[in-house]
Amino acid sequence: MSTNQDSFKKIISHAKEYGFIFQSSEIYDGLSAVYDYAHNGVELKNNIKKYWWASMVQMNDNIVGLDSSILMHPTTWKASGHVDAFNDPLIDNKDSKLRYRADVLIEDYITKIETKINKEITRAKKRFGDSFDENQFRDTNPRVLENQKKIDNAISVMKKCFDDDDLVSLKQLIEDLEIVDPVSGSKNWTDIKQFNLMFSTSIGASSESASEIYLRPETAQGIFVNFLNVQKSSRKKIPFGIAQIGKAFRNEIIARQFIFRMREFEQMEMQFFVKPGTQSDWYEQWKQNRIKWHKALKLGDDNYRFHDHDKLAHYADAACDIEFNFPFGFKELEGIHSRTDFDLSQHEQYSGKKLRYFDPEINESYIPYVVETSIGLDRMFLAVLSSSFCEEKLEDNNSRTVLKIPDFLAPYKLAVLPLVKKDGLSELATKIFDNLKVHYNVAYDEKDAVGRRYRRQDAIGTPICLTVDHDSAKNDTVTLRFRDSMEQIRVPISEIKNEIDKRTSLHNWLS
Ligand code: ATP
Repeated sequence: MSTNQDSFKKIISHAKEYGFIFQSSEIYDGLSAVYDYAHNGVELKNNIKKYWWASMVQMNDNIVGLDSSILMHPTTWKASGHVDAFNDPLIDNKDSKLRYRADVLIEDYITKIETKINKEITRAKKRFGDSFDENQFRDTNPRVLENQKKIDNAISVMKKCFDDDDLVSLKQLIEDLEIVDPVSGSKNWTDIKQFNLMFSTSIGASSESASEIYLRPETAQGIFVNFLNVQKSSRKKIPFGIAQIGKAFRNEIIARQFIFRMREFEQMEMQFFVKPGTQSDWYEQWKQNRIKWHKALKLGDDNYRFHDHDKLAHYADAACDIEFNFPFGFKELEGIHSRTDFDLSQHEQYSGKKLRYFDPEINESYIPYVVETSIGLDRMFLAVLSSSFCEEKLEDNNSRTVLKIPDFLAPYKLAVLPLVKKDGLSELATKIFDNLKVHYNVAYDEKDAVGRRYRRQDAIGTPICLTVDHDSAKNDTVTLRFRDSMEQIRVPISEIKNEIDKRTSLHNWLS
């Protein structure tokens, strides 16, 4: 796992060089925080979608799918609260002219103090060895206590500012903490202003008849407004869920971390409708379910942690994030929110249509409560890419760059490589390729020495390379070489498909 800015830069340029991700509109100097997925990127992204969809929809007979439109009736966003409250508190530095999210500046300040505490603990651990008691040290060391007090104070003042919607005191906090612009080092800040993140456009032929609509900032509302249509047509009983993958748009201001924060991105969301009063049990269950889904990928259990929200959104009675250890530190990958009956109640009120479920077990109608799991597909992509990226020194003193992507997510499952083009090896390799390509995404490469071809496949994460050599024609066997171990085995041609299935198929992971 790479942990610093340098290796993050390497990952970004690797993603471009090997056809995963391009800056959008690059020939016009790019469009900030908007990216395009190239061939290998699309394949990896589609495989992540398949993994999510299969584990959500295919594996749960009480979850059904939906693909609702990006454009929705504008009242949707009035009802959901996005028109009035989908804001970020922004502050500008007058010297650097850079704009920041006020809460992010304060969180970065807290992270810096936490780092100081951790350094203090690491030093003490070394000094005291086995007899070191971390809790006791935290409770008694004066420097740690003083720093912890600074953190607690910053969190509690920030929370109060947000609770009271008090932007003046929030700016005062930034000044009191002596937070400087990370680029210019200046403390010359403007006042904080709220900025709505929705993109608007207009619908209609002429400017007189046109009306303002929004690009959806989340996929969830498409699920809520369709709640009754889906429930009735699928004949599902509560508890049941609706899952959807789709684009969302946010006019993000602070967009400096590659595909982590984009203006156009994809979400994979599932809204689970439950009986009022049962939401906290379901919330716990979905938390456990989701962390298990992530850890099954074996990207390293230590790379995940839960973060409970300090300030709950107006619609939630519980909320947390699953954070991932990205190259720039632990940041939100997925949100799990207990959204109460807020959304359906609001849509009932604004539309004048009943959005209730008749529960035959208690002979009563009610507005269901909702537990949501919401993950950014692009952030998931970045989690897979960044934790898979390795630079290895080999025994022969050469080095290789390899993407150790979980096999079933890799863009190509297999590469077919004839050792040389002549002596009928190309023909045999092409035959094998043609037989396999109906089952999987298979690469074929006959250019350059075989070692260079292995490196090219390592760099895009292909888990298996199949080499056809002179013995292949004689005894119907080929060599399989595995990406991570570089180990090679000889298998009969008739066994190839079994071997690939065993190692790379999604159904093996699901079961
Ligand atoms: P953040 O605090 O990082 O802005 P959020 O809390 O606003 O995120 P949610 O509204 O909970 O995010 O959205 C659910 C998920 O959608 C997030 O966990 C994240 O994975 C993804 N997501 C949100 N905003 C973006 C973005 N601008 N670019 C890429 N993914 C995003």
